Amino acid sequence: MNEMFCFQCEQAVGGKGCTKAGACGKKSDVANNHDKLTSSLINLAISSNGKSPGGKADILVMQSLFATVTNVNFDYNRIEELNSGVINEIKNINGKQSFTDESLWAGDIDVTSLRSTLLFGMRGMAAYAWHAYVLGKKDNEITGWFYKGLKSLSEIHSLEEWLELIMEFGQINLKCMALLDEANTSMYGHPVPTKVTTNIEKGPFIVITGHDLLDLKQLLEQTEGKGINIYTHGEMLPAHGYPELKRYSHLKGNFGTAWQNQQKEFSDLPAPILFTTNCLMPPRASYSDRIFTTSVVGYPELRHIPEGKDNVKDFTPVISKALELGGWDSNMHFTGINGGSMLMTGFARNTVLGVADKVIEAVKTGAIKHFFLVGGCDGAKPGRNYYTDFVKLAPKDTVILTLACGKFRFNDLDIGEIGGLPRIMDMGQCNDAYSAIEVALALSEAFNCGVNDLPLTLVLSWYEQKAVCILLTLLSLGIKNIYLGPTLPAFISPNVLNILVEKFNIVPIGTPQEDLNKILG
Ligand code: SF4
Repeated sequence: MNEMFCFQCEQAVGGKGCTKAGACGKKSDVANNHDKLTSSLINLAISSNGKSPGGKADILVMQSLFATVTNVNFDYNRIEELNSGVINEIKNINGKQSFTDESLWAGDIDVTSLRSTLLFGMRGMAAYAWHAYVLGKKDNEITGWFYKGLKSLSEIHSLEEWLELIMEFGQINLKCMALLDEANTSMYGHPVPTKVTTNIEKGPFIVITGHDLLDLKQLLEQTEGKGINIYTHGEMLPAHGYPELKRYSHLKGNFGTAWQNQQKEFSDLPAPILFTTNCLMPPRASYSDRIFTTSVVGYPELRHIPEGKDNVKDFTPVISKALELGGWDSNMHFTGINGGSMLMTGFARNTVLGVADKVIEAVKTGAIKHFFLVGGCDGAKPGRNYYTDFVKLAPKDTVILTLACGKFRFNDLDIGEIGGLPRIMDMGQCNDAYSAIEVALALSEAFNCGVNDLPLTLVLSWYEQKAVCILLTLLSLGIKNIYLGPTLPAFISPNVLNILVEKFNIVPIGTPQEDLNKILG
């Protein structure tokens, strides 16, 4: 008998699902508690008739969905606390617990596939809604949609109705990414092109990882003038491009390569590491005393920095640890996975659209033949060298736009420039897919054609649920011919895949050269 069931990420065992323990390190009791929490959320949505009951419930819904994203929360007790909170909300509105967790993954294979697609998309969107919320931005249409979507998971729908719901969700997620973009840029300014070193200076330092820019900002404020340097890791890298963050001179550079190398790269680190969101891997004993979690991230026995008064967290324990460990005695040289030691970021929509004339001219003269958006998540499974090789093999008259953490496969490569523009332009974190969409829409307007007619191909890598919500947004915009890898999601049934291929011509990746030949014809 299965001890658990989870097939929400690319690591699902055997391409089918984790049934004994998660390949991510999630134990079966925690996975089952994630299911219980999800069922409680569905019961809350049923009880409130698919609408927000207001008050604390919205916060709990965002936090709970976010906590069940892959590599976020492995702590049974923290999930239990969230579940108690949701159950209280159900009681407050005299609701009932009619939906059971056994129903989550049961039933017709295609219905389960579509239901799971919507659930995983909502888990991803909850992360973005939460980041916007902590920056003071909340949109009732977006928050309200969580209840509509969660309630629909308990209902019987035809395949067409599920697809309609999923497309509607894609549009809501676009609004959510726009909200977060607005929250980030109004708080920290529009990102500007910025070079980021991979070298580490001697002396005390802190590594901060994940997506939460507010945590970084508060950490920068609290370490200013204390002789402690701050280095980003993983999805925090694009923070260097924001004017209101880069003005801190002790925000020095980026440590580490891909997130899945953390167990090796953190083992000898003489510094604490602060996890603000995913992707946390089970820490090894050699460095677990140096890991701190915050927000919805959790792992048993790791130090957790709680929410503070007036939304200000107290990072004193992290700062004390940095001073105690002291960093390295001399400056250290590190590189990305291809040997480069300089990363570029900050090519978000404002920067790219700021040089739109140059870009359009380069396309018209033939200096730029094609754009590739090579973006998405990184992951541990083999087969992801595809993305490195794809970028290396892309002809010199093509431009690579990138976002999310998959770029650590190639962002230390120097593949040259076209007309003063670097051929690799990092648009930011995964949520900055919004920036890429804005750029694509602006280009389609400039060339007076549809996005699908632009010399642009999306070559995406997926791993967890934020990639799912972004993919659904792209599909809801009618974007076709997306190359998707490294493998297809376990939760997409053969029939649902056929529908996606027929409607959107989603293409599973092949080999880089074959795919380039197909695309560039
Ligand atoms: Fe398995 Fe991924 Fe679920 Fe973890 S999140 S249990 S690796 S499918």
